[in-house]
Amino acid sequence: MSSDLTANNLSMPKAVETRDALARPLHDLRISLLDRCNFRCPYCMPETEFHADFEFLKKSQCLTHTEILKVVRVATKLGVSKIRLTGGEPLLDKKLPGLVATLAEIPGIDDLALTTNAMLLAPVAQTLADAGLHRVTISLDSLDERIFKTMSGGRGDLKRVLAGVDAAAHTGLTPVKINVVVQRGVNDHTIVDLLDYFRGSGHIVRLIEFMDVGNRNGWKMDQVVPSKELLTTIQAHWPLRPVDKNYPGEVARRYEYVDGEGEIGFISSVTEPFCGSCSRARLSADGVLYTCLFATHGTDLREPIRNGASDDELTDILSRIWLQRADRYSELRQPDVAEAHALRKIEMYRMGG
Ligand code: SAM
Ligand code: SF4
Ligand code: SF4
Repeated sequence: MSSDLTANNLSMPKAVETRDALARPLHDLRISLLDRCNFRCPYCMPETEFHADFEFLKKSQCLTHTEILKVVRVATKLGVSKIRLTGGEPLLDKKLPGLVATLAEIPGIDDLALTTNAMLLAPVAQTLADAGLHRVTISLDSLDERIFKTMSGGRGDLKRVLAGVDAAAHTGLTPVKINVVVQRGVNDHTIVDLLDYFRGSGHIVRLIEFMDVGNRNGWKMDQVVPSKELLTTIQAHWPLRPVDKNYPGEVARRYEYVDGEGEIGFISSVTEPFCGSCSRARLSADGVLYTCLFATHGTDLREPIRNGASDDELTDILSRIWLQRADRYSELRQPDVAEAHALRKIEMYRMGG
């Protein structure tokens, strides 16, 4: 580990809350560690587009861990207290435990989480927990082997992913959240079985509306199953009641089973947008900062960092980006807005989900 990666030079004054043009604070930073993935989920990285010849970022184009840590240090000065490591598939980064260990020591971070497809999780869960990772979110779209295989682009192994879920639970990376992208006619008919499997486990299943992220997944509104519709279906099996948000800006609408068998969540970005409380920034693997999941452009931080920008200079850049932010794509999602964004949105695997 380089000396820049030690905690000694990470102490800092108390964070100053920064609010954007719509008075939303900056609380969360999602960091995409790499743009590569061992899956080809058709709703994210369809194989037809992300084939063997696709040009992913070169190592030299990606931020180093030292550069990522510099951005995180600065972001915490502006109010960031939640960090999520994502991708692409973050577990393809073999040096991940070292990064986690250093992030875990940065003052001001009270939530350090990882989003993964969990194919590679079981063997490293203990190492990540020991390094200081707080919790994981695991993407798992169906427990039907055939549908799971299709939704991972033919690459996933359900048993390995479930072993990853168990390993996360046993090593205390909890609560384990299970992200399910629901697509009409693809996996919507398997949701009840999936909920049944996880009921009583302590894991929180979150049902996500299929989103029009990027330009390559052929999104159509008729493939979206509105959360309200799913709620009605689930209620017919197990009565649910709403639960208060854990914190302002939480994107999932929480419900609990009336019979006490646990909690589930709905992420309804399409039918019930939550831009009003969106406090997230995203850092791509090549160091571009985005202020919306549906952004068409971002701000390059890699160049100023590689040109020797001081922490104060980087703080100024970040602060200016956030102060000007007025994104609310999902609230405005209308045919004309979608058209204006068409073919120009940054892909999710690139900016980090
Ligand atoms: N590879 C990791 C994984 O799948 O967990 C992390 C990156 S992935 C881009 C992050 C999350 O974005 C996953 O939970 C995935 O299901 C979700 N996602 C990707 N494309 C989506 C889409 N079009 N609509 C809704 N969620 C999507
Ligand atoms: Fe990979 Fe995650 Fe995208 Fe699936 S959702 S292709 S696992 S980055
Ligand atoms: Fe946040 Fe953009 Fe999503 Fe709205 S559309 S909730 S601003 S990421």
